[in-house]
Amino acid sequence: MKLLLFDIDGTMLTTQGVGRQAVERALSTLLGEPVSAQGIPFSGKTDPQILREVLLAHGLTDVPAPLLQEAVALYVEAMHELLVPERVRLLDGVRPLLEHLQTRPDVHLALLTGNVEPMAYLKLRAVGLDHHFAFGAFGSDHADRAELPPIAIRRARAHTGHTFHGPDVVIIGDTEHDICCGRGVGAFSVAVCTGHFSRDHLATFGPDVLLDDLRDPALFVRHVMHRAA
Ligand SMILES: [Mg+2]
Repeated sequence: MKLLLFDIDGTMLTTQGVGRQAVERALSTLLGEPVSAQGIPFSGKTDPQILREVLLAHGLTDVPAPLLQEAVALYVEAMHELLVPERVRLLDGVRPLLEHLQTRPDVHLALLTGNVEPMAYLKLRAVGLDHHFAFGAFGSDHADRAELPPIAIRRARAHTGHTFHGPDVVIIGDTEHDICCGRGVGAFSVAVCTGHFSRDHLATFGPDVLLDDLRDPALFVRHVMHRAA
């Protein structure tokens, strides 16, 4: 039995710059002056981590927890306004892959994403994928992605009654943060080149499997289901 933990942005879909726009809108509202997120990479980071980094880059010396909470709430609000379904692009092959995996008795699907939970489901709903994921670990659970795999494993036990160990936990994502975050629990990592990073870049972080994309369900099953011991 395997627990497949999917990242969202760059792995299953892209929101084509809406996230950055929403961060800037939220933080400009928060501080009452224009805030730019230019030059700050978002990929693979959790929402609270992104908001904190943009605030620090803007000149704040510290981001106390209540301020960060307020920033997250404003960010979710801004995304609700800006994230019209036309801005969300589902990546090729993702829907048929999930539909196939859903039918397998040896798989449980869940999320491992830096998005805060309401944001994760907002994005997935926009492309009709939310029903595949009953649970997950989110940026709202912890700002550090490396803390998310143990949370996902605990939730999986609560949802399925099964305890997933080591390489039976499979983390699928598009950045080095996805590749590295599961090392502490011995997870099996699958990197895809559909985000902002090249095959060569991702290869340097040593994922267990490196796929160009998720277009071929048979290839995924062969490399992931048969190899992750
Ligand atoms: Mg991603």
